Amino acid sequence: MIERELKKCPFCGADAEIKTEYRDFKRAYYTFVKCSRCYAQSRMYKTLYDPKVAPELFDIAAGNWNRRAKDGDPATE
Ligand SMILES: [Zn+2]
Repeated sequence: MIERELKKCPFCGADAEIKTEYRDFKRAYYTFVKCSRCYAQSRMYKTLYDPKVAPELFDIAAGNWNRRAKDGDPATE
């Protein structure tokens, strides 16, 4: 499991976590940050290969989430 420092959810203050899903029908991996309580989530980052071999993707996803958490304005993207 790849750990990245994540800020609390800007909506409810719960812990957030990075997830990766493989979608067969897209033949792609999706990496995103998701709140463990209210299901708020960051934008999804699509890759054609397992992001475990490209850990910079986790940095990008975590950075996006943290910027949003800091701004406190999730509506602007
Ligand atoms: Zn939340």
